[in-house]
Amino acid sequence: MQPRLAAKNCSLFETASTNKTMKPLNRRHFITRSAFGSALAGSGFFFHPIQRALAAPAPGSKNAEPLSLTTRQRVEASPGTGNYQITERQVQWNPRETAVIVVDMWDKHWCNGATSRVAEIAPRMNTFIHAARDRGVFVIHAPSSCMDAYKDHPGRKRAQNAPRAANLPPEIGEWCNKIPSEENGKYPIDQSDGGCDCEPKCEGGSPWRREVAAIEILDIDAISDSGVEIWNLLEEQGIKNVMIFGVHTNMCVLGRPFGLRQMSKNGKHAVLVRDLTDTMYNHKAWPYVNHFKGTELIVEHIEKFVCPTITSESLLGKPPFRFSADPRVPTATKL
Ligand SMILES: [Zn+2]
Repeated sequence: MQPRLAAKNCSLFETASTNKTMKPLNRRHFITRSAFGSALAGSGFFFHPIQRALAAPAPGSKNAEPLSLTTRQRVEASPGTGNYQITERQVQWNPRETAVIVVDMWDKHWCNGATSRVAEIAPRMNTFIHAARDRGVFVIHAPSSCMDAYKDHPGRKRAQNAPRAANLPPEIGEWCNKIPSEENGKYPIDQSDGGCDCEPKCEGGSPWRREVAAIEILDIDAISDSGVEIWNLLEEQGIKNVMIFGVHTNMCVLGRPFGLRQMSKNGKHAVLVRDLTDTMYNHKAWPYVNHFKGTELIVEHIEKFVCPTITSESLLGKPPFRFSADPRVPTATKL
């Protein structure tokens, strides 16, 4: 999709504040300290996902099993050489200090090809979200421009009612087109035609109304398309780490007020879940590679200049998602 907000070059780094203030008991403190949550915890009884989440360990609990993630970045061998090497690290994140942000997984896109790919990838995203939620990760759904559909949803009210953070970064409410580190490289694709590679070309428009139905939104999740609200939620919940995915990598996932650039430059430990995303890239535009190679090039750009990536395998223990039309050889692409 195209940015609706006025483009703003995030050319200045703000110093990320780590100030912590005393907070009232948050949602998860409350629910996990309830008798209901205690009764369910460890019972081994089969229960609904909401109840499993309720039964998850309390924030800061020593019993919370850390998320073990294999992160990937590309590091320049020596400055100015342009010789980047893949660096993988094993990191352990406290699930109670971690959120997933699901970006713009709309029910319908102006591009039919994009809508089809969303339908194909959404079930895997839903599986990943459930796995993360069951481990105690906080889930934020961000279907931009679709808030009307959720105006009475508890998750929407949770976002609106989150207390204003003391450390709201400047420009957190705005789109971010570029961060300074990206000046060190050349943006790898031409997306100036909007990225539709359908024949005939799709017409455009704004047909989205809500998040795609294949992704379940539970009452304990949050719903927002506001950078300010989402930052408030992250601070309220004590979130340091964010796993971001959705569509499209080269537009909203990078640039939204709650996207990779804003989260990374403002001091959150941000990662892109690189197999749970898609790109608006037309293979008939430079550099004239197939659609999925276009996504791979954007992922490489992110790993060089924005933040590390992971795959859904880290939580699900099964091979990363691949689109059925993706012709690339898995071992060659290192997905
Ligand atoms: Zn199209």
